[in-house]
Amino acid sequence: EEKTLAIIKPDGVSSHYTNKIKAVILESGFAIVREKILQLDEGNATYFYSEHSGKSFFPRLITYMTSGPVCLMVLEKVNAVSDWRTLIGPTDARKAKVSHPTSIRAMCGVDLERNCVHGSDSRESAAREIAFFFGDINTG
Ligand code: ATP
Repeated sequence: EEKTLAIIKPDGVSSHYTNKIKAVILESGFAIVREKILQLDEGNATYFYSEHSGKSFFPRLITYMTSGPVCLMVLEKVNAVSDWRTLIGPTDARKAKVSHPTSIRAMCGVDLERNCVHGSDSRESAAREIAFFFGDINTG
């Protein structure tokens, strides 16, 4: 079994996609082992996306990610990291609607920025991101 971090971004939450996305998650064989709603602030959004801090879209990304509450979930299954990335589809939701029409981003994303969900990109990122938002969930 492997864990990954899923985030339903502010546009997904405000457009009421949370229950639909959770249904797809469960139908796809993931267990939702932790879940919480959180309003990100500039500090934790900047830390979370620090790999993008030099990029031109970074200020907009932070504004977007702090524009309303997000739904954070720890998902667990065999091959969770890669299977969740496959299920959400390409970063650009507009392209996802053409190339991966059954993906979650095709279903509820809008464009390259407002793509409604996040998925950790590696086991290492998943461990770091889960610890950041939930602490060490394997002890205590
Ligand atoms: P995430 O990390 O959110 O799962 P990703 O790994 O598919 O997405 P990244 O390249 O890590 O994509 O980009 C992080 C987020 O920044 C994207 O999900 C999107 O919201 C935003 N983003 C990426 N590229 C652009 C861009 N060129 N213009 C605007 N926003 C962008």
